[in-house]
Order: sequence, then structure tokens, then C-alpha cells
Amino acid sequence: MQPYISEEQLKIHHQKHHQAYVNSANTIFEKLQKARKDNIDLDIKSTLKELSFQIGGHLLHSLFWNNLASAGTTNESNKLLIDYIENEFGSFERFKKEFTQAALSVEGSGWAALTFDKQTNKLIIMQIEKHNINIYPTFQILMILDVFEHAYYIDYKNERAKFIEAFWNIVNWDEVNKRFEELQEL
Ligand code: MN
Repeated sequence: MQPYISEEQLKIHHQKHHQAYVNSANTIFEKLQKARKDNIDLDIKSTLKELSFQIGGHLLHSLFWNNLASAGTTNESNKLLIDYIENEFGSFERFKKEFTQAALSVEGSGWAALTFDKQTNKLIIMQIEKHNINIYPTFQILMILDVFEHAYYIDYKNERAKFIEAFWNIVNWDEVNKRFEELQEL
């Protein structure tokens, strides 16, 4: 991923931040299990809210890692998805601009994602706050970008725009297109 994401940045992100969501989700499951076993009341509202955040974190990171690739190993040409992108957004450049603006303007911590709605055959950009707010249920995520500060602070400090610009060099277009093609077959 270098020079777009450094080894140190990627390792900390994967091994510390992503791992923390997995650990926290597991802790909540244990707490739920214990409470059920001992028939203890839990604050269900706050427990489920936290569980949604932690599981969302795990699932979105898993999608994110897999839609990254070493620079120059994949590109967007001759992909079915790109035809759809050009049709929906007018041009690939227009899509890039809208996605970049979505990522740039997430309030606080969150994500930008390109999603596909099978019911309407529409590509829609989803701007997620935290890991679980503003999500369209059932829309499939084709490509996602993490814009939590923890995703870029080592390499880019507070400059989210520079990180987003770098992201375009390491998109795994084979994977993103594969996710799209698999949906066409269902
Ligand atoms: Mn992250």
C-alpha cells in the first residue's frame, strides 16, 4: 500500500483498532450470555446500541481491507461496474468527485461507501456516521473507505483530504467489480 498507506498505519489500524471492535463485540456477547444464564436484567437499549457499533465496526473494516490492493495491480477499465457507474453518475470522474465529497464531509468519524440496491438497480453513495448511522438496510456495499481519524493520522495527521486522494490509488477494482457481478447473478 505504500506510499499511500504506511505499514505502521495499516498495522495499528488492523491490529489495534479493528481488533478492539471484535473484542468489544465478543465481550458484549459474553455479558448477554451470562445475564441470560443468571437471569439478570441488562440495560438492553444501551447494550444493543453498543453491540451495533462494535459489530458494524468489524463488518465495515472487513469490507474495507478487501477492497484495497497494492497500487497498480488493478484498474477500473473494462469492468461491468464502471458501465453502471458512468450510467448512474454521468461519468467516472463525476462519481469520484461525489464519493470524495461524501468521504470528506462525514461529520466526525465514519465512512463513505458505494452501494447497490438490487430492487431498483441503483448505485447509491452511502455516508455512514460512526459504524452504523445513516445505513440503508439491505443495500450491498461494493466499495468502502474508512475516514475515522485512526485510519490516517500517522500518515496524514489531520488531513483527511490527502488520505482520500491517496485511497484512489489503492482501490481493488477486481474485488469491487466482483462484489457487483455476484449481485447480478443472484
Ligand atoms: Mn477504522
